[in-house]
Amino acid sequence: MTTTLDWLGTATFRLTIGELVIFLDAYMDRVPDAPPVGLSAKDVTKADYVLVGHSHFDHIAGADVIAKNTGATVIGSHESCRVMREAGVPDGQLKASSGGERHRLSPEVTVRVFPSLHSCTWILTDPAPDEEEHGHTGLTQEERAACPGLVQRVTEIVAAGGETAQVLREHILGATASMSDGGPLVFLIETPQQAIFWQDTSGCWTGTFDGIEADVAILGVSGRPNVNGEPIQGSMAQFIAMEAKALGAKQVFLGHHDNWMPPVTRETDVAPFHAELARQAPGATLTETGYLAGTVIAP
Ligand SMILES: [Zn+2]
Repeated sequence: MTTTLDWLGTATFRLTIGELVIFLDAYMDRVPDAPPVGLSAKDVTKADYVLVGHSHFDHIAGADVIAKNTGATVIGSHESCRVMREAGVPDGQLKASSGGERHRLSPEVTVRVFPSLHSCTWILTDPAPDEEEHGHTGLTQEERAACPGLVQRVTEIVAAGGETAQVLREHILGATASMSDGGPLVFLIETPQQAIFWQDTSGCWTGTFDGIEADVAILGVSGRPNVNGEPIQGSMAQFIAMEAKALGAKQVFLGHHDNWMPPVTRETDVAPFHAELARQAPGATLTETGYLAGTVIAP
């Protein structure tokens, strides 16, 4: 049984295990200035499952289109399933999960769901991946709300007006999505050959990794990582290497590191991830892949 992985930009991937087709997020239809990924949600003709990491537009948007066109089942949080239900996806195609579930995807393949955390969107952050950040700990929600965060930056761009602002505004507000992350989830897909861990944002409860092992880790790179409810005291590269090491991963793929929403985002340099993995998790190799590259995952 051959397993192939296609990156579709942002943190979206298509995982094909033999005949089974699983979308990991569904966000392919991005702002016009983002590089095209080569596939639109409306053109997807085969999908058995769509796993949704969280309910923000840059992850869930498109899952409704795929589900309605292909009959695929969506597995996501209760908030993600509410968004899908309101978009007209039948209840029979929704498996609401909060972490702790194991769903069968085919006679040979199952997926385990775990609770997770979103990156710290309340901190405005744009350092290089190997640049350490410190502070911002011990804050209440009210104190966090007073920080100049990512949402504030987007709000400022939109408020500045002009064509770009209008495009962003319509894109974000028009998406089938939620302003709430809905409670991020991570997934462990287990085949007879390998265990594949997927995460679409940068946060974790480190205890989640106790007792789980993954051959392959697909890890989201976005914003200031969140470790056990507090912003990481360190760098993004250190966060990714920590996760890869905790999972015992042999092969690492990154997600969310392309220029997915210019002018808010830019392309992330991946060199620091190679270096930090070599230091912290020497058993893990970072595989760089382009959109729709059809990377075969070794058993
Ligand atoms: Zn998000």
